[in-house]
Amino acid sequence: MGTPCPRRVLTASRPRRRCACFLLCGCAPLRDAPAVADSVSPQSVIARKRDGHALTRDEIAAFVHGAARGGWTDDQCAALLMAIFLRGMTSAETAALTELMMRSGAVADLRGIPGVKVDKHSTGGVGDKVSLVLAPLAAACGVCVPMMSGRGLGHTGGTLDKLESIPGFRVGLGLDAYAAQLRRIGVAMIGQTAELVPADRKLYALRDATATVESIPLICASILSKKLAEGIDALVLDVKFGRGAFMPEQARARELAAALVALGRAMGKPTRALLTSMDQPLGRAVGNAVEVVEALEALKGRGPADLLAVTLALGVHMLLLAGVARDPAAARQRLEQAIANGTALRKFRELVAAQGGDATVIDDYARLPRAPVVRPVVASATGFIADVDPRAVAGAAWRLGAGRAHAADAIDHAVGLTDLVKVGEPVAAGARLCTVHAATDADLRAVLEEVSAAFKIAPRPGQPGPLIDELVE
Ligand code: URA
Repeated sequence: MGTPCPRRVLTASRPRRRCACFLLCGCAPLRDAPAVADSVSPQSVIARKRDGHALTRDEIAAFVHGAARGGWTDDQCAALLMAIFLRGMTSAETAALTELMMRSGAVADLRGIPGVKVDKHSTGGVGDKVSLVLAPLAAACGVCVPMMSGRGLGHTGGTLDKLESIPGFRVGLGLDAYAAQLRRIGVAMIGQTAELVPADRKLYALRDATATVESIPLICASILSKKLAEGIDALVLDVKFGRGAFMPEQARARELAAALVALGRAMGKPTRALLTSMDQPLGRAVGNAVEVVEALEALKGRGPADLLAVTLALGVHMLLLAGVARDPAAARQRLEQAIANGTALRKFRELVAAQGGDATVIDDYARLPRAPVVRPVVASATGFIADVDPRAVAGAAWRLGAGRAHAADAIDHAVGLTDLVKVGEPVAAGARLCTVHAATDADLRAVLEEVSAAFKIAPRPGQPGPLIDELVE
């Protein structure tokens, strides 16, 4: 026996933990990385990328190992990140970075669980509660859905925060419990465990601090390394564009989608992406508990049209990739049936109970956190809604306490906005534009101006741009 492998692969088929790096990729396991790291100096790697060269696999391994285990200083890591930001990476470099980042920690091996494991990942937006609807819905249609999500940061919300507004809901399952739940009920919605992709945690924080987040190879490696570590077989991506998106410009969002799809394929995982608009909030609620209510309404067949449209469009590709529907029309019909006949809602109930949550909230929304101050914001003119600025809505929700500035900040699950009008709808002077849910009167007063300014009213109806723009496959 040599040095124990730092990357543990947890196999669902065998409860005992064992190392199996070689099973997944056939390449040199990361235990070789310390030797590589010693033989490659950070300065030489940084200089080669600074001068526009493609890095070798050993150089990338030295960087990932150095970042995850401390052999490289933060300055050296940040310098290489900036060089990558400026010089880019070839597809071979990006694939090596992704695979090495994935192998920097534990990797779930779900091969012992029957069925094709398909996850959905969104690049994030305002009011994006699609995962809450889609994970149980796809699972109710026979897809095994291993979903690991993030927390809200900055203007975008996070699925974990929304789920945690359900009293008792635990998102911190270990990998063994995650695999056991997938086997039992076919769906799990959990947070990134500390064991998974430690290199990304380190590098993402440095990118955030050094203005290097918006690099397509770095984004692709960050997203895909985490998805691969979850144990997926296939992936559907919701790449948002528009003012409320992480990548607002549509052409850049398309470039990101194409790069993610190509990388997913290169890593042996069928991957498809939809480009969807985030030019106004998705649905009519923004916050945490208020978004859970909206997601539950969608599972009961009463959700807003745009939320349902995006959910079904992504769901169709999940069912096709899982091989549980033969064509898009059959997939859509199956998804619609699962909502209509209550199986999707039943699956959500099972999911909540399995993760320790109070499933009675599904029938009684009053059991969810509720804000003490609830006030409508009304229109000052008659006309048609021409714009609902997603950044302004997200900013108000954030100031009310629904979001966080730093990863460690606490949030208020009860606050947010509901009843948001949609672009194109008619409105009369004095009618409701939205409802604000605040913790105090002072909090309410602090956001009223910003909330009112988020809405533009025009004398004639305008056309919102397409909600679902393009499939990248
Ligand atoms: N989301 C991620 O997980 N990583 C990125 O780099 C960007 C968005």
